[in-house]
Amino acid sequence: MRRSQRFDDMPGYTGVMKHRAIADRFGFSDPFYQCHSPSRTPHIVVEGRTLLNFSAYDYLGLNGHAAVSAAAKAAIDQYGTSVSASRIVAGDIELHRELEAALAEHYRTEAALTFVSGHATNVSTLAALTEPGDLILHDELAHNSILVGAKLSGATVAAFRHNDLNSLERLLQRERDSHKNVLIAVEGLYSMDGDMADLRGLIALKQRYGAWLMVDEAHGFGVLGRTGHGIAEAAGVDPAAVDIWMGTLSKALAACGGYICGSHALVELLKFRAAGQVYSVGLSPPVAAAALAALKLAHAEPERVQRLQANGRMFLSEARRLGLDTATCQGYAICPVMVGDIVSAGRITDRMLKRGIYVLPIIYPAVPIKAARLRFFLTSEHTPEQISTALSITAEELAAL
Ligand code: PMP
Repeated sequence: MRRSQRFDDMPGYTGVMKHRAIADRFGFSDPFYQCHSPSRTPHIVVEGRTLLNFSAYDYLGLNGHAAVSAAAKAAIDQYGTSVSASRIVAGDIELHRELEAALAEHYRTEAALTFVSGHATNVSTLAALTEPGDLILHDELAHNSILVGAKLSGATVAAFRHNDLNSLERLLQRERDSHKNVLIAVEGLYSMDGDMADLRGLIALKQRYGAWLMVDEAHGFGVLGRTGHGIAEAAGVDPAAVDIWMGTLSKALAACGGYICGSHALVELLKFRAAGQVYSVGLSPPVAAAALAALKLAHAEPERVQRLQANGRMFLSEARRLGLDTATCQGYAICPVMVGDIVSAGRITDRMLKRGIYVLPIIYPAVPIKAARLRFFLTSEHTPEQISTALSITAEELAAL
C-alpha cells in the first residue's frame, strides 16, 4: 500500500515553519493569529494589554455599536442563528430582501444579491459569468478572490500593470477580437497600497472595447466619496456605468459576507448559476441584520465618513513629514509604510507591539519579497493624537532598525 505524503513535508507547511524560524532566530514573536479579548475600535486587548489597533477594517467604527448588536440579537430571537440551507432550497427571509434592497439603493442599481463570504462572492461571480473563450483582464494587484475566480472560470486571464490604463488598452487591442466576452476586474481602493482605480478612464475603455467592468468595493464602500458611497461618488460618475459592483459586508458594515449589485438579469443569473450562492447557505439572520443596521447608520451618520477621511489625510501628511515611505498611498483608510525585507518587517512589528501599537506586516508572497510593509488601517474612531503617536513610534523604530 502506498503511503500518502506527510503534511509536514509539504511546501505550504515548510514555508510557514521557515517564517517561524526566522522570527525565533531574530528574537521576535510571531504576530499572526493572536487571540484577543473583547475590545472596541480603535483598541484591541491582546494578552491583557490594551493596544491601539491599526489592523481592523472596522472603517466606520460600527462593530459593537449598540444599534448594530441590538439588531443582530433581535434577529436571533426572531429567526434563530442560521437559515439552515441555501436560499434556493430554504427560501429567503425578509432580512435578506431588505438588505439587498438597501444595497441596490446604495449603488442605484436594479438589484443586489448577498453571499456568505466576500471571497466566495468574487470567486463564484467570475466563474459564473465567464468561461473558456472569454477574457478576464485584471489589475496586477487585484485581490486573491478575483484571481481564484478568474482561474476557476476557464477564461483566458491576463493582468495589466497596476492602475496603468495604457497597459490595459494594449491588452484590449491585442486580445479583444479573439474573445467573446471580456471582463475587466479592478478594486475601487486597493487593499495593499491604498490607492484608487481611475474609474473614469476604466469606463471609457470598457465602452470603447465592449467589455464588462467589475469593481470590487471591499475597501471603497463607506470610505470613498463625500458620503461614503464609494468610488463612483469620489470620481463623480454614474454608478450605472459599472456593470458589476462587488462589495463585502465584513469591513465598513461590521458583519460578514459579500454582495453583487447590478442589473436584474445579472442578479437572476447569479441566483441560479453562482456556485457560492446555489450550493452555499444564505446569510445568517444576525449577520444580515447587523449589516442592514450598519448600512443605515453609515447613511444616517456621514460624519463617520468625514472623520475617517480627515484621519486618512492627516496620516498621509504626517507620515510624509516624518519622511516615511508610503509608496502610492493616497491618504484614505489604508496606508502602507514600506519597511523592506521580511526580517525588518518582523522586527518592527514586534517593536510596535511592545510599544502598544497593533499593526501587522504584509510580507511575501502577498507583496514582492523586498516590499514588506506595515499596513495601517484607519477608522473614524482613531483620534489625530493616536495617529500622531503611532507614526512617531513607527519613525523612531524604523530609524533604530
Ligand atoms: N475583496 C477584497 C479587495 C478584499 O480585500 C477582501 C478581503 N480582505 C475580499 C474581497 C474578501 O472579503 P471577505 O473578507 O469579506 O471574505
